[in-house]
Amino acid sequence: MRAFAISPHLDDAAFSAGGTLAALAREGWDVVVATVFTASVPAPTGFALACQTDKGLPPEVDYMAIRRAEDEAACAALHARPVHLPLREAPHRGYHSALALFGDLRSDDTAHLAAAEAITPLLRDMKPDLLLAPQAIGGHVDHILTVRALQLLDAGIPTLWWADFPYTTRRDTPKRPFAAAMARLPETALPTDPAAKHRACAAYTTQLGYQFGGPEGLARALVAAGASEPMRGTAVQAVARAA
Ligand SMILES: [Zn+2]
Repeated sequence: MRAFAISPHLDDAAFSAGGTLAALAREGWDVVVATVFTASVPAPTGFALACQTDKGLPPEVDYMAIRRAEDEAACAALHARPVHLPLREAPHRGYHSALALFGDLRSDDTAHLAAAEAITPLLRDMKPDLLLAPQAIGGHVDHILTVRALQLLDAGIPTLWWADFPYTTRRDTPKRPFAAAMARLPETALPTDPAAKHRACAAYTTQLGYQFGGPEGLARALVAAGASEPMRGTAVQAVARAA
């Protein structure tokens, strides 16, 4: 049995579904984490550069190469295999402020088409029994376009849509751009491995300060969120087949 997680960014799958993925791997599933927006962009400028320098990284380092290496360590903690797709993150596609990342999609942004094109051969070759993907809670444009890519593909594979952590915990009510579609799906929570999830999340060292205020903040946030990872969808048949 194979589970295939489609993560917008290098960290989303571990943050939101890491406990489930680790538990599936422990039960003998082959677990693959494909991250969509991982391309290195040489000599970034403006807001894109600020996204790396505000995390303490000088302009000359390959920020995305560092994060891909973090993802490899995180996937090792989950006993999953990482796959990195070569799309550019939103700050390199015309979204020039933190607000724009959570605002309207640009009319010239066709990243969902490129994502669908990149994911198609993976699904064909890997024939997963179960997909895991974001609900895009929080409304980050890269998360929305990842969902749109999967909607386009309509692969007919049992899919569990995860609740995007840590957006789910933000004090202001997070945007839920696909709330109507998700509400039609049953809530499903599979067994999780919280310790493996914590190890995986901690591997994204460049992101911990920004997202959680540091490693201690991550630990507190994971405890506060609890071990359960409620998702939306009907994967019961796939999981039952494996049992
Ligand atoms: Zn993300």
